[in-house]
Amino acid sequence: MSTLVLGAGMAGLSAAKALQDAGEDVLVLEAKSRIGGRTYTNRDFAEHPVEFGAEFIHGDKVVLWSLVKALDLQTLHWQKTTDSLVHLEEGDWLSMEDARATHPEFDITRTWLLPEVDPLAHEDWQAYLSRIGFNEKQLRYVRRSFSNACGESMRFLSAKAVLEGLRATLEHNGEGDYRILSGYDALVNHLAKGLEIKINDPILSVYWEANQGVRVTSLDGEVYEADSLIISVPLGVLLSDGIKFNPLLPRHKRSALNGLRMGPVIKLIYKLNQPVTEKEIMAIYGKGNPPMWWSPSFGFETNDNVWTAFVSGDWAMDLLVKGEEAALENALNSLKTELNRPELEANAAHLQNWPDDPYTRGGYSFVLPGHDGAREKLASPTPPLFWAGEATAPEHRAATVHGAYMSGLRAAKEILELSGHSQKTGKNLAEPANLA
Ligand SMILES: Cc1cc2nc3c(=O)[nH]c(=O)nc-3n(C[C@H](O)[C@H](O)[C@H](O)COP(=O)(O)OP(=O)(O)OC[C@H]3O[C@@H](n4cnc5c(N)ncnc54)[C@H](O)[C@@H]3O)c2cc1C
Repeated sequence: MSTLVLGAGMAGLSAAKALQDAGEDVLVLEAKSRIGGRTYTNRDFAEHPVEFGAEFIHGDKVVLWSLVKALDLQTLHWQKTTDSLVHLEEGDWLSMEDARATHPEFDITRTWLLPEVDPLAHEDWQAYLSRIGFNEKQLRYVRRSFSNACGESMRFLSAKAVLEGLRATLEHNGEGDYRILSGYDALVNHLAKGLEIKINDPILSVYWEANQGVRVTSLDGEVYEADSLIISVPLGVLLSDGIKFNPLLPRHKRSALNGLRMGPVIKLIYKLNQPVTEKEIMAIYGKGNPPMWWSPSFGFETNDNVWTAFVSGDWAMDLLVKGEEAALENALNSLKTELNRPELEANAAHLQNWPDDPYTRGGYSFVLPGHDGAREKLASPTPPLFWAGEATAPEHRAATVHGAYMSGLRAAKEILELSGHSQKTGKNLAEPANLA
């Protein structure tokens, strides 16, 4: 069996490695000049690695820990309760721990211990929270933190999907956020080792025949053929018709795509002329735009003061319309004003604009109200086409690196099962227990 994999992000690489380890013939085709996709570790900006894309391992139980341990990588635990400052709506600055202890209306936006009220079929997250009694102040807390991390403004998110994700996250992923100190690319490079990967090779069209083979054509007119194809390109590329399918994808696949979107997610990264906070503080939950800041320098012995603003949804659009230079200036001015630190200046600044990247077209996926189940429909195989990528992961691990990684394993397993691999070889795919 031969397989082509479109995209050398976490999903594509994990799929390709699993297939190659099982003795299959695999070629990965990647549009960009680098591998990793939305995991993108930069080593020029500062003395230490800086993540321009994914930064944390979300949860102490997720599958990536087996790689981290096998590779003996050091990680830093973001101790949110003690090393993060919250700018309360009333104007005080408190540690996360104190803010939660003294402000129950803020605390609930961290515990998510909500009343058992089912969302309506087409209800968005903002409407749902208002209906169950969140007041304006609480909605602002949600907007600033939780919803900013969801990658799109609350009114676009399916309440049902958000709740499903919230309820299952702790159980499946565990707690905490961890940064790999040597960079996320340590995992990427490990997976890529020994794989045949063609970079600078955007695929423009896919010719496929149900239960037969595939033929794909690249921008340069190169043609590749195989028995099966794993599509792990970002949802944004599929939604923008970046790849033409001939024949068109089946109706259920197009309906799945209709129910999913990529939110605008950007990072604004600064090397500042002086420390921003006490040494013990790694993150700031602000009131302005950007609402969320953290320091990639935290955890390193360094004189660099690098701070990253993570911004999505309306916040991101409000900055992006100003243009890159003004967006960087406005965001820093907002931090200076909030902290009353007019003397803070940037020695270097970088805007990582994921929505503008033609091979990503957004930050990560979310489900539109009324379209629950779209991820599962997108994930379902349509042989010879198999589907991977974070958007195809179940809600509680969609939009994450570990979700992308496991979606690749799932797609590889589907191909091997269909080809009767284990009957032929007597071998099963080495895999974490639950790929559902
Ligand atoms: C700013 C930001 C911060 C994030 N932070 C975190 C975090 O802290 N923790 C976390 O778990 N997740 C985080 N995420 C989400 C995480 O990065 C993604 O869920 C995950 O990396 C997606 O992997 P993937 O393989 O599905 O897609 P990608 O990594 O996007 O890989 C898809 C690949 O397909 C390639 N491609 C596109 N079009 C074509 C084409 N036509 N032909 C060939 N190749 C093509 C792309 O170039 C890319 O390399 C973050 C994302 C962003 C944007």
